[in-house]
Amino acid sequence: MKQLTRRSFNGLATKGLLGSAFIANMPLANAFTTNKNSKKLGVALVGLGSYSTYQLAPSLLDTEHCYLAGIVTGTKEKESVWQEKYNIPKENIYNYENFDTIGDNDSIDVIYVVLPNSMHAEFCIRAAKAGKHVICEKPMAVSVAECDAIINACNEHKVKLSVGYRMQSDPYTHEVKKYVREKTFGDVLFVSSDAGYVSKGNPDQWRLNKKLSGGGALMNMGVYAIQTSIYGTGQNPISVSAQEFSTRPDYFMDTDETITAQFKFENGAVAHMMTSHNANGNRLKCHCSKGWFELDPAHSYGPISGRTSNGDVLKFPHKRQQALQMDDFAKHILLDSKNLAPGEMGKRDMIIVEAIYKSIREGGQEQLLSLGDLGIVV
Ligand code: NAD
Repeated sequence: MKQLTRRSFNGLATKGLLGSAFIANMPLANAFTTNKNSKKLGVALVGLGSYSTYQLAPSLLDTEHCYLAGIVTGTKEKESVWQEKYNIPKENIYNYENFDTIGDNDSIDVIYVVLPNSMHAEFCIRAAKAGKHVICEKPMAVSVAECDAIINACNEHKVKLSVGYRMQSDPYTHEVKKYVREKTFGDVLFVSSDAGYVSKGNPDQWRLNKKLSGGGALMNMGVYAIQTSIYGTGQNPISVSAQEFSTRPDYFMDTDETITAQFKFENGAVAHMMTSHNANGNRLKCHCSKGWFELDPAHSYGPISGRTSNGDVLKFPHKRQQALQMDDFAKHILLDSKNLAPGEMGKRDMIIVEAIYKSIREGGQEQLLSLGDLGIVV
């Protein structure tokens, strides 16, 4: 085979000239050594808070196709700590002000935005303008309009975009999707999903500040329950009705504490979700015409655990979900494999979030959803 450079390989893959069978059968190592620098993709983390520190940076030591190449931080003291710990070259360390010059740095391929939710849009758009591929943490933004702005910027600057939905790369999620697709337990009739934890500590934290978070439990944990409701049924909902509950208004002064919502699906299936910053929840149960299957826990960092009405206990080898997620995105960039969590998926979930808040404002009124145009199913 003629030697392909990364650019020519991508070009062929993008044009569909390699064919999916070719890509599926090609040993990944061969595909990646076509990269003109024979290197893994360099990822720069923007925002070095708890998720970057305890999950993403350690996961980048575990990835096959990318590595921690740079950091972007607003806290000067973190620079030398991270530089030393992860052997990051000085020229790959940026702050929020000089961030835009990252476009000149060839060792950075992907920028991963891990800031408070209201800052995602600004930094993802700046990353796209710098010509870098983008991973945006969940929730994608604080409004559908911001999701559109991120998607448009990435399209305009011809960079790839993904949302930090780590569960989309988890083998238990793939198994659930397979059960739904293959009707292993018959038709899914009812899905129940919970996603919550008890928030304690500093009431001034950004997650409880609407300006920075865009909302409370629904924005933070609710997106997991929205996602499980969708991949638990294999469809986008056609309507949603929602309710809000507040028992600690002195603590949750600015953001929602607990929300429940019910989805209807075109084939008659129904889903109920609960999300909370004041109650634990980490479960997906799918009741079907010929049995049931469940994940409990369903969306923590793993290992996830699952059971079925056949008495089977699901067991998959554990690997950090974030490593799987970043490798999946690297493969999407390098091999044009499927983007498991594209921007349109983050936007779809934000459309649902906005409909849930609207339903609550209107006393639980059912909101019709029209999600077909997005082309995103699960
Ligand atoms: P965090 O509070 O631990 O870190 C936030 C970072 O943003 C810090 O480095 C902080 O210095 C910086 N920052 C910049 N401007 C700020 C401001 N005005 N106020 C507060 N912090 C500011 O938060 P985190 O838990 O790392 O969450 C960051 C993002 O990652 C959020 O969007 C969150 O939803 C997402 N997240 C995703 C997962 C997941 O499983 N996918 C898990 C945790 C967090």
